[in-house]
Amino acid sequence: MARKKKSKGLRVSLMLTVGLMIVSFAAGMLTQKIVFREPQTDAGLTYIEDIPVMTDFLPEGTRARPGQKREIRYLVIHETDNTGTGANAAAHNSFIHQNANAEEGIVSWHYTVDDHEIYHHLPDDETAYHAGDGMEKNGGNMNGIGIEMCVNSDGNYEQTLINTEKLCARLLIEYDLNPSKALKKHQDFSGKICPSTLINSGRWDEFCSAVTAKYKELKADEAAKAS
Ligand SMILES: [Zn+2]
Repeated sequence: MARKKKSKGLRVSLMLTVGLMIVSFAAGMLTQKIVFREPQTDAGLTYIEDIPVMTDFLPEGTRARPGQKREIRYLVIHETDNTGTGANAAAHNSFIHQNANAEEGIVSWHYTVDDHEIYHHLPDDETAYHAGDGMEKNGGNMNGIGIEMCVNSDGNYEQTLINTEKLCARLLIEYDLNPSKALKKHQDFSGKICPSTLINSGRWDEFCSAVTAKYKELKADEAAKAS
Protein backbone atom coordinates (compact mmCIF):
# COMPACT_ATOMS: atom_id res chain seq x y z
CA MET A 1 0.00 0.00 0.00
CA ALA A 2 2.80 2.36 1.01
CA ARG A 3 4.75 1.40 -2.11
CA LYS A 4 1.79 2.14 -4.38
CA LYS A 5 1.41 5.59 -2.79
CA LYS A 6 5.08 6.35 -3.39
CA SER A 7 4.89 5.51 -7.08
CA LYS A 8 1.85 7.75 -7.49
CA GLY A 9 3.84 10.55 -5.82
CA LEU A 10 6.71 9.93 -8.22
CA ARG A 11 4.37 10.13 -11.19
CA VAL A 12 2.94 13.43 -9.99
CA SER A 13 6.40 14.90 -9.45
CA LEU A 14 7.49 13.69 -12.91
CA MET A 15 4.45 15.30 -14.47
CA LEU A 16 5.23 18.50 -12.61
CA THR A 17 8.83 18.46 -13.85
CA VAL A 18 7.75 17.92 -17.47
CA GLY A 19 5.11 20.64 -17.07
CA LEU A 20 7.68 23.08 -15.72
CA MET A 21 10.05 22.26 -18.57
CA ILE A 22 7.32 23.01 -21.12
CA VAL A 23 6.46 26.28 -19.39
CA SER A 24 10.08 27.41 -19.20
CA PHE A 25 10.67 26.42 -22.83
CA ALA A 26 7.61 28.45 -23.88
CA ALA A 27 8.79 31.37 -21.76
CA GLY A 28 12.18 31.15 -23.46
CA MET A 29 10.51 31.28 -26.86
CA LEU A 30 8.51 34.28 -25.75
CA THR A 31 11.60 36.10 -24.46
CA GLN A 32 13.37 35.36 -27.71
CA LYS A 33 10.43 36.69 -29.69
CA ILE A 34 10.33 39.92 -27.68
CA VAL A 35 14.06 40.52 -28.16
CA PHE A 36 13.72 39.82 -31.88
CA ARG A 37 10.88 42.34 -32.23
CA GLU A 38 12.56 45.21 -30.44
CA PRO A 39 11.51 48.43 -32.22
CA GLN A 40 13.86 49.72 -34.87
CA THR A 41 15.64 52.92 -33.86
CA ASP A 42 17.57 53.67 -37.02
CA ALA A 43 17.72 52.30 -40.54
CA GLY A 44 21.52 51.94 -40.19
CA LEU A 45 22.09 52.60 -43.89
CA THR A 46 25.67 52.50 -45.19
CA TYR A 47 24.95 52.52 -48.93
CA ILE A 48 21.90 53.10 -51.09
CA GLU A 49 22.84 51.39 -54.33
CA ASP A 50 26.15 53.15 -55.13
CA ILE A 51 25.58 56.21 -52.92
CA PRO A 52 27.59 56.14 -49.67
CA VAL A 53 25.75 57.09 -46.48
CA MET A 54 28.17 58.60 -43.95
CA THR A 55 26.90 58.40 -40.38
CA ASP A 56 28.21 61.17 -38.10
CA PHE A 57 25.67 61.70 -35.34
CA LEU A 58 25.55 64.91 -33.35
CA PRO A 59 26.80 64.20 -29.82
CA GLU A 60 24.11 63.31 -27.29
CA GLY A 61 23.27 66.15 -24.95
CA THR A 62 23.94 68.94 -27.46
CA ARG A 63 21.22 71.55 -27.90
CA ALA A 64 20.55 70.47 -31.49
CA ARG A 65 19.93 66.88 -30.37
CA PRO A 66 17.10 66.89 -27.85
CA GLY A 67 17.19 63.08 -27.84
CA GLN A 68 13.43 62.72 -27.67
CA LYS A 69 12.17 59.41 -29.09
CA ARG A 70 9.04 59.54 -31.24
CA GLU A 71 7.03 57.67 -33.84
CA ILE A 72 8.26 58.20 -37.42
CA ARG A 73 5.35 59.30 -39.63
CA TYR A 74 6.82 61.62 -42.26
CA LEU A 75 9.77 62.32 -44.47
CA VAL A 76 10.09 66.13 -44.48
CA ILE A 77 11.86 67.41 -47.60
CA HIS A 78 13.96 70.59 -47.54
CA GLU A 79 16.49 72.42 -49.66
CA THR A 80 19.45 74.15 -48.05
CA ASP A 81 18.98 77.29 -50.23
CA ASN A 82 22.78 77.57 -50.07
CA THR A 83 23.96 77.90 -53.67
CA GLY A 84 27.56 78.62 -52.67
CA THR A 85 30.38 76.64 -54.21
CA GLY A 86 31.22 73.66 -51.99
CA ALA A 87 27.96 73.83 -49.98
CA ASN A 88 27.59 70.07 -50.28
CA ALA A 89 26.53 67.37 -47.80
CA ALA A 90 29.96 67.20 -46.10
CA ALA A 91 29.96 71.00 -45.62
CA HIS A 92 26.49 70.88 -44.06
CA ASN A 93 27.61 68.06 -41.79
CA SER A 94 30.43 70.31 -40.54
CA PHE A 95 27.97 73.19 -40.15
CA ILE A 96 25.46 71.19 -38.09
CA HIS A 97 28.24 69.89 -35.81
CA GLN A 98 29.81 73.32 -35.33
CA ASN A 99 26.44 74.82 -34.40
CA ALA A 100 25.13 71.97 -32.24
CA ASN A 101 25.40 74.09 -29.09
CA ALA A 102 24.67 77.51 -30.58
CA GLU A 103 22.96 79.96 -28.22
CA GLU A 104 20.32 80.90 -30.78
CA GLY A 105 18.88 79.59 -34.02
CA ILE A 106 19.31 75.90 -33.24
CA VAL A 107 18.72 73.77 -36.30
CA SER A 108 19.06 70.06 -36.84
CA TRP A 109 17.82 67.44 -39.25
CA HIS A 110 18.56 63.81 -40.09
CA TYR A 111 20.06 63.57 -43.59
CA THR A 112 21.79 65.86 -46.09
CA VAL A 113 21.94 64.69 -49.70
CA ASP A 114 24.14 65.99 -52.51
CA ASP A 115 25.00 64.63 -55.96
CA HIS A 116 27.45 61.97 -54.73
CA GLU A 117 26.89 61.17 -51.05
CA ILE A 118 24.54 61.37 -48.07
CA TYR A 119 25.38 62.45 -44.52
CA HIS A 120 23.34 61.13 -41.62
CA HIS A 121 23.37 63.47 -38.62
CA LEU A 122 20.78 62.06 -36.17
CA PRO A 123 19.17 58.68 -35.41
CA ASP A 124 15.93 58.36 -37.36
CA ASP A 125 13.78 57.86 -34.25
CA GLU A 126 14.73 61.16 -32.55
CA THR A 127 13.07 64.56 -32.90
CA ALA A 128 14.96 67.46 -34.53
CA TYR A 129 14.52 71.16 -35.35
CA HIS A 130 13.89 71.59 -39.08
CA ALA A 131 10.17 71.99 -39.77
CA GLY A 132 9.56 75.28 -37.95
CA ASP A 133 6.58 73.94 -35.97
CA GLY A 134 8.06 73.64 -32.48
CA MET A 135 7.24 70.27 -30.97
CA GLU A 136 3.65 70.31 -32.12
CA LYS A 137 1.84 66.98 -31.81
CA ASN A 138 1.83 65.11 -35.12
CA GLY A 139 4.13 67.79 -36.55
CA GLY A 140 7.21 67.83 -38.75
CA ASN A 141 9.77 68.20 -35.96
CA MET A 142 8.00 65.73 -33.69
CA ASN A 143 7.26 63.01 -36.24
CA GLY A 144 9.33 63.72 -39.33
CA ILE A 145 12.71 62.60 -40.64
CA GLY A 146 14.26 65.85 -41.93
CA ILE A 147 16.02 65.53 -45.30
CA GLU A 148 17.99 68.46 -46.74
CA MET A 149 18.85 68.54 -50.44
CA CYS A 150 21.93 70.53 -51.47
CA VAL A 151 21.66 73.18 -54.16
CA ASN A 152 25.36 74.12 -54.37
CA SER A 153 26.24 75.76 -57.69
CA ASP A 154 29.09 73.29 -58.29
CA GLY A 155 26.76 70.31 -57.75
CA ASN A 156 24.41 68.47 -60.09
CA TYR A 157 20.92 69.19 -58.76
CA GLU A 158 19.27 66.57 -60.98
CA GLN A 159 21.56 63.88 -59.52
CA THR A 160 20.85 65.17 -55.99
CA LEU A 161 17.14 64.75 -56.73
CA ILE A 162 17.66 61.15 -57.87
CA ASN A 163 19.76 60.38 -54.76
CA THR A 164 17.06 61.90 -52.52
CA GLU A 165 14.36 59.87 -54.27
CA LYS A 166 16.34 56.70 -53.55
CA LEU A 167 16.87 57.64 -49.89
CA CYS A 168 13.16 58.39 -49.47
CA ALA A 169 12.08 55.12 -51.10
CA ARG A 170 14.47 53.19 -48.82
CA LEU A 171 13.20 54.94 -45.66
CA LEU A 172 9.55 54.40 -46.64
CA ILE A 173 10.31 50.68 -46.83
CA GLU A 174 12.33 50.65 -43.58
CA TYR A 175 9.54 52.28 -41.60
CA ASP A 176 6.61 50.81 -43.53
CA LEU A 177 5.21 54.22 -44.47
CA ASN A 178 2.71 55.00 -47.22
CA PRO A 179 4.33 57.35 -49.80
CA SER A 180 1.10 59.23 -50.44
CA LYS A 181 0.77 60.11 -46.74
CA ALA A 182 4.36 60.26 -45.51
CA LEU A 183 6.09 62.45 -48.12
CA LYS A 184 5.89 66.06 -46.97
CA LYS A 185 7.38 69.41 -47.82
CA HIS A 186 8.74 71.68 -45.09
CA GLN A 187 6.07 74.08 -46.38
CA ASP A 188 3.32 71.68 -45.21
CA PHE A 189 4.29 72.33 -41.58
CA SER A 190 5.33 75.96 -41.38
CA GLY A 191 4.43 77.68 -44.64
CA LYS A 192 8.07 78.39 -45.56
CA ILE A 193 8.65 78.01 -49.31
CA CYS A 194 10.87 74.96 -48.90
CA PRO A 195 12.08 72.95 -50.82
CA SER A 196 12.10 76.14 -52.89
CA THR A 197 13.50 74.93 -56.24
CA LEU A 198 11.08 72.00 -56.35
CA ILE A 199 8.12 74.18 -55.39
CA ASN A 200 8.97 77.14 -57.63
CA SER A 201 9.59 74.93 -60.65
CA GLY A 202 6.31 73.08 -60.07
CA ARG A 203 8.13 69.74 -59.76
CA TRP A 204 6.97 68.55 -56.33
CA ASP A 205 4.42 66.09 -57.76
CA GLU A 206 7.02 64.77 -60.20
CA PHE A 207 9.38 64.19 -57.25
CA CYS A 208 6.67 62.31 -55.30
CA SER A 209 5.86 60.14 -58.34
CA ALA A 210 9.55 59.25 -58.76
CA VAL A 211 9.83 58.29 -55.07
CA THR A 212 6.66 56.20 -55.29
CA ALA A 213 7.92 54.39 -58.41
CA LYS A 214 11.21 53.52 -56.66
CA TYR A 215 9.33 52.48 -53.52
CA LYS A 216 7.21 50.09 -55.63
CA GLU A 217 10.36 48.65 -57.21
CA LEU A 218 11.84 47.96 -53.75
CA LYS A 219 8.54 46.40 -52.59
CA ALA A 220 8.50 44.12 -55.64
CA ASP A 221 12.15 43.12 -54.98
CA GLU A 222 11.29 42.30 -51.37
CA ALA A 223 8.29 40.20 -52.41
CA ALA A 224 10.42 38.34 -54.98
CA LYS A 225 13.10 37.60 -52.36
CA ALA A 226 10.52 36.39 -49.82
CA SER A 227 8.88 33.96 -52.23
ZN1 LIG B 1 13.18 73.56 -45.10
